[in-house]
Amino acid sequence: MIYLDYSATTPVSYEVLDTYTKVTKEYIGNANSLHSLGIKSAKLLESATKQIADIFNVNPNEIIFTSGATEANNMALIGVALASHKKGKHIIVSKLEHPSIYVICDYLKSIGFEISYVKNDKEGLIDFDDLKSLVRPDTILVSICAVNSEVGIRQPLKMIRQIIKKENMGTIIHSDMTQAIGKIPVNFHDVDLASMSGHKIFGPKGIGFLYKSSMIKITPLVYGSGKTNELKPGTPPLPLIVALSKACRLSCDDLEKKERFVNLINEKIVNTLSKYPNILINKTKYSIPHILNISLMKIEPETFINAMSQKDIYLSTNTACSSGDLSSSIMAIYNDLARAKHTIRISLSYITTTDEINKFLLEFTEEYNKLNELRS
Ligand code: PMP
Repeated sequence: MIYLDYSATTPVSYEVLDTYTKVTKEYIGNANSLHSLGIKSAKLLESATKQIADIFNVNPNEIIFTSGATEANNMALIGVALASHKKGKHIIVSKLEHPSIYVICDYLKSIGFEISYVKNDKEGLIDFDDLKSLVRPDTILVSICAVNSEVGIRQPLKMIRQIIKKENMGTIIHSDMTQAIGKIPVNFHDVDLASMSGHKIFGPKGIGFLYKSSMIKITPLVYGSGKTNELKPGTPPLPLIVALSKACRLSCDDLEKKERFVNLINEKIVNTLSKYPNILINKTKYSIPHILNISLMKIEPETFINAMSQKDIYLSTNTACSSGDLSSSIMAIYNDLARAKHTIRISLSYITTTDEINKFLLEFTEEYNKLNELRS
């Protein structure tokens, strides 16, 4: 198997799985229980939360565990909207967000919020002048992803924060950091809220968190009992949380070295595929090397992906959450419908091997030539 869909999800690392199993077996108590088994679980919960907080240089009470990034995005956007609606009803998002952000925005629009979409330039970078002009006294929230999930565009969040806060100090900034964490260094202090998901960093599926600065208030979306967190009541999934803390530690280690390697294999693929006249490389100077997007202009991407999966090679069209649709990110960057309808995302990891890439390129060439011949 050659797996090149790491941005859709990653396999759980052995160490993480081992942690999950051990905690499941050895910590049976509910962290909310008062007896000694509960206290034992609560202590482990506390140390796992602290480990995550330390990695990201924030306080443990600023980490709210969720089922993943979709839930964290909901908690952030709807939570701010409900908490701040008396101050204003205006929200700004970029045109490079994950579909989950747009679905939440559609919901917020349906209940009376106004959504503005900030422009980006031809390289995918947020248009700072447009952002500046969009921020108003009633702008309660701006949400801009740290790394886009389709083309891997990385945004300068520190600069974006300065622009927003200069126009309106009270505007809250959220960033979906799902595709950034574990790939590039991130700084939670550039934002007020940040979403992430464990299954993108070799952790288990069903766990992630929302970072929420203690300086801001959001309204809870879920109500219930349990003392561990008022924004996420109920029994904390301790094995998943401890496994997530392990995954964060392993994946955020040695990022520069890992990125250098991913860059090499990315360039190898680009050098080979850019020789074909009907393949467009959707990469700008802001793309991180882990996400490589191409457009096969004369071939249906679904046909190609199915053919490759017959060869045990796994790619995706755009994000797993919007497979089959046209790529909204390609539209936002290149404004080219044909290009946006023909995208393939090759997502790489530091565990990808050069051997895998060599084999992938051979199989790619064979399949691409075959499908091209069938067309003519
Ligand atoms: N945001 C981004 C940028 C993503 O890439 C994804 C996963 N495709 C999500 C949110 C949703 O994450 P989850 O599957 O953990 O809900």
